[in-house]
Amino acid sequence: MSILVTGGAGFIGSHTVVELLERNEKIVIVDNFCNSSPNVLDKIRDITKKDIKFYEVDLLDEKNLEKVFKENDIEAVIHFAGLKAVGESVEQPIKYYHNNITGTLILLKLMQKYNCDKIVFSSSATVYGKPEHLPIKEDFPLSTTNPYGSTKLMIEQIIKDVCISNENFSVAILRYFNPIGAHESGLIGEMPNGIPNNIMPYILKVANGEYNTLTIFGNDYDTHDGTGVRDYIHVVDLARGHLKALDKIRKEKGVQIYNLGTGKGYSVLDLVYMFEKVNKVKINYKIGPRRPGDISACYADVTKAKEELGWKAEKGIEEMCKDAWRFIIKQSKK
Ligand code: NAD
Ligand code: UDP
Repeated sequence: MSILVTGGAGFIGSHTVVELLERNEKIVIVDNFCNSSPNVLDKIRDITKKDIKFYEVDLLDEKNLEKVFKENDIEAVIHFAGLKAVGESVEQPIKYYHNNITGTLILLKLMQKYNCDKIVFSSSATVYGKPEHLPIKEDFPLSTTNPYGSTKLMIEQIIKDVCISNENFSVAILRYFNPIGAHESGLIGEMPNGIPNNIMPYILKVANGEYNTLTIFGNDYDTHDGTGVRDYIHVVDLARGHLKALDKIRKEKGVQIYNLGTGKGYSVLDLVYMFEKVNKVKINYKIGPRRPGDISACYADVTKAKEELGWKAEKGIEEMCKDAWRFIIKQSKK
């Protein structure tokens, strides 16, 4: 039987595929390359020395997605495929709701039809809205501030309802904090299209000279240096969390929800200074206004994942900065 990985050519998906292959799991990837490129698949082959079964299919294309279920015996799905740019989701909400929600509904419908009853879903810490306390626990109140976040929260609810309707169903909802870094080989990493929204891809473009200056969005937050604090997690640690979640849902039915973070918060300036120190490059920055919708600080309570999955993040912020930069250097040498 195989694990279907939707969005397996993307940033987190590709790192998870590597970990799955290294554990000798049989996998099938589905991706439409709307935010990734086919050469990622070659890189995964280079790293793992294994072949990959791949379908270029859009989740919205039910007919061709059904072919994947017909031609493969799918035991479980790890569902990464989705659009993820917060700003774009505010400008184009219908595109986001259609892609993320309709895509998931079609996937769930086919899972039901082909008796596949296990799914690991990529959710986000954004579903905690503006948390009243820190660190954030899984049972905190949920709310969202943009259409992207709303798609995550709605999909969580849809999956929970499917679980209620089918006692054989098992689900792991993983709420990621801030994934950064890259595979230590330097072959796969994060490659956003267009101007990056997130901090690390922006730092990388300043580091390689593509952009002159990083704008730090506010230095008047109630944090140790005034800049926003986040829980950055190495993408390889995050990927490994998915294997642990898969093990869990293979054993237990029902819904399990886990925060995947390190439990530690770093400010924007902490991250910039660490990047400069470990990579010996200068990051020009200036302080700008706050970005609308941003919260001052966000970091996870990771006790539940540790106790129930036996998982915790192993890699520190230095390694995240080094690995992210190695990936960029390797790209520019080609
Ligand atoms: P990514 O954009 O790199 O990967 C998503 C992949 O899904 C891409 O390869 C894209 O081409 C594919 N895709 C999108 N819509 C599709 C569709 N309709 N049919 C087929 N393929 C489709 O993003 P990522 O950073 O790897 O994120 C993976 C998941 O994790 C997403 O659901 C995202 O919302 C969620 N997430 C990401 C972060 C983050 O900061 N990266 C944080 C929290 C949650
Ligand atoms: N940030 C910044 N400049 C940028 C991008 C992000 O100062 O160009 C800050 C942002 O305000 C936040 C932190 O970096 O405090 C992480 O932002 P990101 O968008 O990566 O993640 P999110 O805000 O979604 O957690």
